[in-house]
Amino acid sequence: MFYDVIIVGGSYAGMAAALQLVRARRSVLVIDAGQRRNRFAAHSHGFLSQDGSSPDEIVRTAREQLIAYPDLTWVDGRATSAAGEIERFSVTTETGGNYRARRLILATGVVDTLPDVPGLQELWGRNVFHCPYCHGFETNKGQLGVLAVSAMSMHQALMIPDWGRTTFFTNSKFEPDAEQLAALSARDVSVERATVERVSGKGETISVHLEDGRTVELAGLFTMPRTDTASPIAEQLGCAFEDGPLGAFIRVDAMKATSVPGVYAAGDNATMAGSVTFAVADGARAGTSAHQSIIPGLAALHPKPGNHH
Ligand code: FAD
Ligand code: MG
Repeated sequence: MFYDVIIVGGSYAGMAAALQLVRARRSVLVIDAGQRRNRFAAHSHGFLSQDGSSPDEIVRTAREQLIAYPDLTWVDGRATSAAGEIERFSVTTETGGNYRARRLILATGVVDTLPDVPGLQELWGRNVFHCPYCHGFETNKGQLGVLAVSAMSMHQALMIPDWGRTTFFTNSKFEPDAEQLAALSARDVSVERATVERVSGKGETISVHLEDGRTVELAGLFTMPRTDTASPIAEQLGCAFEDGPLGAFIRVDAMKATSVPGVYAAGDNATMAGSVTFAVADGARAGTSAHQSIIPGLAALHPKPGNHH
């Protein structure tokens, strides 16, 4: 079967793209490996009308509504490679499926790599977070921590005090200079230089175990994972990337077009710091852009990217 659009990744960004396209009566194939980035969290916050909902629930409802459209085909699985060019792309899955389409939308999200501290991964999404807008409020103004990964962690160390009194664990990754120490002090942040040996959690509390035997109890710990696009497909197709502070992401213009004609990207794999809201918005934009790019003569009416809807 030859589709108008294949969407790799069927989470928030991918489904938002698909929804626009099937509503335009275009044939869409979604290939999804089912490994959403927020699968470690029980609640999703900050997405209008779904604040506090289960991420699984949001996705389930979206998928139900989407697959009710006649022109939507859904494949559970992982796309392993893509090739071709505008009007004739092909995508292969790990089970050997091969699918062809005129346009591609990459919505594969990112994979988080946490600092190498024992216990951290187990508590990721429970007591350990990267985004205070998503999970800060629920720490109820308790004692909070920031685990440094580099000088960039200053950003979190200065932000987090809005959600609770903050200890900055520099963990030998970073030493603030005099100016930074003054900024931290102005935010009432304590700097803890002892190496973090491991973390453990019990219910709502997380314990940070230091090398000298001390333990610091916190209501939440924030850190910055490294992020990598969750699939090699953008690279295979030759898409340009941007270097973000946390990892590379696919370069897109305002219409979510990548550097490769006919390939669009949306969501966390194409942004510096994503969220469900941004993934949905970018996905909807990628869907309408891909759709309009298919209509003969339409592109010529668009003077420059960013001006149409
Ligand atoms: P994802 O949701 O990550 O989905 C990508 C999809 O593509 C996955 O299903 C994946 O399996 C699939 N995929 C990847 N590669 C392939 C392939 N090769 N073939 C087929 N399928 C593939 N944001 C909020 O707004 N509110 C929150 O409360 C919040 N909490 C979070 C908590 C945690 C612990 C984390 C880590 C993140 C949280 N986020 C939150 C961020 C949010 O999860 C992301 O911004 C959002 O999931 C991005 O959506 P996406 O569609 O771009 O990617
Ligand atoms: Mg998606």
